[in-house]
Amino acid sequence: MTATMAPESQAMMGELRPTMKAIAVRPGTAGSVHLATMPRPAVNDVANGRGVLVKVLRVGVDGTDKEINAAEYGAAPDGFDFLVIGHESFGRVEAVGPAVTELSVGDYVVATVRRPGRSIYDVIGTNDMTTDDVYYERGINLRHGYLAEYYVDDVEFLVKIPQGLKEVGVLLEPTTVVEKGIAQAFEIQRRLRVWRPRKAAVMGAGTIGLLAAMALRIRGLDVTVFGLDRRPFLNSDLIEALGARYQSTRDLTVIEGAGKHGPFDLIFEATGFSPIVFESMQALARNGVLVLSSVTGGDRMVSVPADRINLDFVLGNKVMVGTVNANREYFETGVKDLATCEAQYPGWLGRLLTHPVNGLENYAELFDHLTMGKGAIKVFCRVAE
Ligand code: BGC
Ligand code: ZN
Repeated sequence: MTATMAPESQAMMGELRPTMKAIAVRPGTAGSVHLATMPRPAVNDVANGRGVLVKVLRVGVDGTDKEINAAEYGAAPDGFDFLVIGHESFGRVEAVGPAVTELSVGDYVVATVRRPGRSIYDVIGTNDMTTDDVYYERGINLRHGYLAEYYVDDVEFLVKIPQGLKEVGVLLEPTTVVEKGIAQAFEIQRRLRVWRPRKAAVMGAGTIGLLAAMALRIRGLDVTVFGLDRRPFLNSDLIEALGARYQSTRDLTVIEGAGKHGPFDLIFEATGFSPIVFESMQALARNGVLVLSSVTGGDRMVSVPADRINLDFVLGNKVMVGTVNANREYFETGVKDLATCEAQYPGWLGRLLTHPVNGLENYAELFDHLTMGKGAIKVFCRVAE
């Protein structure tokens, strides 16, 4: 066949491609989640022989997916009026391009979410630090996600998961949010020449809060997790199983809690409720660092004791830092932490997988659990066995 093909025959070839199911939304239309049919990707969709075709096994969903379906967030790729959602992936390699040496058929993998833009940070492999106005995230912004039967990507964006972690590998992407936040805190604290954090607080006892407590416990910190509910409930049991402490903010405010269990050298904020940030600022120890990870799409206003917060920050040499997304490096440290966690607290990660939903066609159930699931920690789709 010649290199130039008539558009009609190209279209015909396209139609000959096998199709697959996917869960998609129409960005801009609230509640538009639906089952889509689209061409199945092929390993040579990626240039340079570096493509990897992955059969999707499990995909987790989170608040970002909820916001995307509520039309508060997210954009379709160019040329599409729908966006395949799902950014917390786990799958098995089905085929590799001729130039792939890092992975083999049968390997378990998780894909990163953000794809490089143009800024210097993107160029050096830290696209999580992009300064571009537009960013590309699979399943979120301008790139299709993983809630489909298959996906293809460059091997550069795939991270191998050891066999022994296959039951919990779907937790890697949310873990990377925590990994980046903690790594950034340690990187920032090199300003102190010596930093030996002893007491940490985690704001929020949801999936990210639980994973942050885990990552801080395996680094040997004394951890207090603040949450809304009164103990005991599943999440407080899980926190205590790590040797961490759960503190309900119905019994003590964050500032009172800091008086009792702190002050905190490191605070990881993951409640999704922005006013807690200003209370957390007042719970920080001298030289402490406060890491903010909640994506809060609203426009809430609060009044705060500005002079006092500012004074304590200045006199105490304190730091506050925002963190979003994660590059490959944090996926790799995440794999190590998941493995350490399985060794140190066997079965703990599996207990986070509270709400499995079988099959892409049950997308409605997936969203029901996500929006009103009682006691849900991780809602995820079992796309295939
Ligand atoms: C995802 C991140 C992403 C962020 C902002 C989060 O839910 O886990 O990968 O960068 O949303 O879009
Ligand atoms: Zn997410």
